[in-house]
Amino acid sequence: MAFDGLMVSVSGVRGRVGEALTPEVMATYAAAFGAWATRQHPGRPVIVGRDSRVSGEMFTRIVHGALESVGCHVIDIGMVPTPTVQMEVEHHHAAGGLAITASHNPIEWNALKFIGSSGLFLSADEGAQMRALLETGIPRATWDKLGRVEFDTHAIARHLDAVLALPFLDVAAIRAKQFHVALDCCHGAGSRIMPQLLERLGCTVSAIGMDADGKFPRPPEPVAENLGDLSALVREAGAVIGLATDPDVDRLALVDETGRPIGEDYTLAFAVRAVLPSRPGSVVTNLSTSKVVQDAAQDGGARFQFAPVGEVNVALAMRDAGSTIGGEGNGGVILPELHLGRDAPVAVALVLHLLATSGKTVSALVAAHPKYVIVKDKLDRPDAPLTAVYQALRERFPDATADTQDGLRLDWPDRWVHLRPSGTEPIVRVIAEGPTEDAARQLVADAREPLSALVGAS
Ligand code: MG
Repeated sequence: MAFDGLMVSVSGVRGRVGEALTPEVMATYAAAFGAWATRQHPGRPVIVGRDSRVSGEMFTRIVHGALESVGCHVIDIGMVPTPTVQMEVEHHHAAGGLAITASHNPIEWNALKFIGSSGLFLSADEGAQMRALLETGIPRATWDKLGRVEFDTHAIARHLDAVLALPFLDVAAIRAKQFHVALDCCHGAGSRIMPQLLERLGCTVSAIGMDADGKFPRPPEPVAENLGDLSALVREAGAVIGLATDPDVDRLALVDETGRPIGEDYTLAFAVRAVLPSRPGSVVTNLSTSKVVQDAAQDGGARFQFAPVGEVNVALAMRDAGSTIGGEGNGGVILPELHLGRDAPVAVALVLHLLATSGKTVSALVAAHPKYVIVKDKLDRPDAPLTAVYQALRERFPDATADTQDGLRLDWPDRWVHLRPSGTEPIVRVIAEGPTEDAARQLVADAREPLSALVGAS
């Protein structure tokens, strides 16, 4: 069964609403997921939650019906962060969960994300098993075996309670500081959890983007160029920090007290610095993450390890390594003590814990450690395999440490370059980081050289 223009990945399907992403697509994939999940775990419920997107309510009704048609007991938890759906799968001992969210994608998109019974996104094997039902046929329930839908409105409260109950989180120290924070939820699901979290942490909040209607007033990815309004708010309000969440609240970006976006990689770096003093151990990030995280791990005496790009790859590596903390440089913090998924609410709590316990400002925390510049580039993917490119680069840079888990990453003490074919587009991504922009650009140029030759030849 094929749907034109639909982006199908290991743990989800996404597309533009009314184009590739139709009610039929949502119903088919939701039913296939429900049948697969409850075949593994008969009798257990399936959790459904959504972000604030305009099409979210419509797709929720469709997903409910599709799940009932395969006999699922649905527990709908309403408009919530994606990490809340993951936590509720564990809370309800569910067979799995569906999050109706296109995360940081532009306003015209929506998507379905598949969560397994462990609360992790589906792995490649699980995703393939589930999609096999699309070929072999989805087993529907007869009239007497249809599922049912119930609603649980306490998911956000449980999520908040779990964050605030983290034993090492110094809630009293944070509350004592009475921080004034600026917040931008970009009309996403963040407004359902962030104000309560910040209030319970004793903060005064100046906020924008709090209507959870999915009508994003700017591109919703929380990258520096999209945070101009938050920067202005930090300065106007005299806030000590600016917090920006993406629409499904698994990523957090920070603005310093002068109104400068500090780059998403610092969210995880700060979280690592907050956690390691109480929870020494190991740190895992994906291969495209800034050295600021590696530096934080090293300063905290933790082991450090890379995982292939993709949230589930990082989560699985963290589970195998028994990691204390990890995540992605895009502002995705994973704290296994809470659950194995990116979680912006816990990231906020950890960042404020670091501010409170260090007594430093955000800009001072950034200035205290080496700074790097990241340069990103992309090229058309050649028809020929990239092994020759990797080999040429390894021969050219024998002094670099090579990691081949996901494309090729070459590492030096103060710089790195990572080449990998995109999983969703016909391109090769090249990311480099160095102590200066020139150094990073040079690495990108070096990596492009054998790649361009191959593209030219193909
Ligand atoms: Mg997201």
